[in-house]
Amino acid sequence: MDYVSVKGMHDIYGNEAAGMAYVASILKATAELYAYREIVPPVLEYTEVFSRGTGESSDIVRKEMYTFNDKGDRSVTLRPEFTAGVVRAVVSNKMYATEEMPLKLYYCGPAFRYERPQLGRYRQFNQFGVEEIGQDSARVDAECIIMAMQGLYMLGFKKLSLKINTIGDEETRAKYREALKTYFAGHIDEMCDDCHERLKLNPMRILDCKVERDQKIAEGAPKIKDYLSEASEKRFYETLSILNDLGVEYELDDSLVRGLDYYSEVVFEVHALAKDGTDYGALCGGGHYGGLVKELGGPDLVGVGFAMGLERVYGLMEKDGLLANLDTGIDLYVMPVGENVLNDVFTLTEEVRQLGYSADTPLAALKMGTMFKKAERRGAKFALILGEDELNKGVAQLKNLKTKEQSEISLKDLGEELDKAFDKAYPNEDDDGCGTEEPGKATEAPDPEDPEAGLMKEGCACSDADFGKEEEKGKK
Ligand code: AMP
Repeated sequence: MDYVSVKGMHDIYGNEAAGMAYVASILKATAELYAYREIVPPVLEYTEVFSRGTGESSDIVRKEMYTFNDKGDRSVTLRPEFTAGVVRAVVSNKMYATEEMPLKLYYCGPAFRYERPQLGRYRQFNQFGVEEIGQDSARVDAECIIMAMQGLYMLGFKKLSLKINTIGDEETRAKYREALKTYFAGHIDEMCDDCHERLKLNPMRILDCKVERDQKIAEGAPKIKDYLSEASEKRFYETLSILNDLGVEYELDDSLVRGLDYYSEVVFEVHALAKDGTDYGALCGGGHYGGLVKELGGPDLVGVGFAMGLERVYGLMEKDGLLANLDTGIDLYVMPVGENVLNDVFTLTEEVRQLGYSADTPLAALKMGTMFKKAERRGAKFALILGEDELNKGVAQLKNLKTKEQSEISLKDLGEELDKAFDKAYPNEDDDGCGTEEPGKATEAPDPEDPEAGLMKEGCACSDADFGKEEEKGKK
């Protein structure tokens, strides 16, 4: 039998793993810039967390969950999304009593949905997202939206489209559901089996149906804006006015209702297409939620959040060359010349790493040509070459693999010599560890003509957010 990965689940390695880690690090640093703190909930929850939290009428709960009984015969589910699990964690740990309010939490990790695999759609995928819980304000909603956009700008995206809508408060949705029931009841015979069930459970879910014929019918359905309570309408326009003040462009999309049951009031999605038109679907989706904390046994607190698909973000960045300059190479390839120096070179390589430079070395003697090829394949910046002669003299040859410049350095002053050579070759890598030649990090002055110039597009946030701390160790 040939072993392959489970259908819809992919192995992430090499440049993709480095690219995904880079994407996650920028998004996490952006969240920290906005004063969010990380939460790492378990991958597995009792099934009721999602059936009650995410909602019985959502496609995710009805059709897409990886649910099984554990050895204690309890029904557990691999999380299909984070919000319900994060809220469960907030309630189980009574964070609303022990932590600073509002809670500002971000997360990053895998989620699992049994969906039909296709471009940008996997059965195991990674999400980054935030939840802001405990403060009911249009400003909080706006901050969450802005943070999602800011994270994507930090990654180097130039053109994003923010789609926004309100699905109102409970009163609004109750009236709206009745109106939809009446409308769809007149068309249900022509609609898919799923929509028959959706009509019974929650007719708003019909608006998410992917079947083309059903979508056509849904186009003629009543619009939520005609059912909005005064309070919901006011709140929505407050959020929009904050976005206007910040120069954030948006598109009002009254067909946007989002597929999860817990949403109320403002909902939004961020989309982007690759330059060649490839559509990976929504990069990010989120909204405000009213009853979720209470539904999962906590106090009556509201929240707002979004989730972003890392594979989709990575896919678009890769397609548009936004990761072309991502430095995935090592600093040094240490080359032993001859069998006799293998042990000393092995020890020296360890010393180099202790100085904070990433390094590799062959564990057996190889031809020079082979070693240079290996160094190139690992993207090494410098080669450190040592034979018996060098060892006896206490020196090594340091070769810049880009410029091919070579010089002899003293092993006694190894740290200083390496610092000097790296400073000269990479003068922009300053103390905060921000390599300005890395993608999306090059600081660009905001364009005054640009409607979104209020946000720090592509700004490097290193100084504020401790980006790339691990790079600080030895380099300068
Ligand atoms: P949702 O919770 O469905 O709104 O998803 C939030 C974000 O997660 C979406 O905008 C996508 O970027 C991403 N996402 C959702 N489902 C998948 C999937 N099956 N594969 C990859 N990314 C996904």
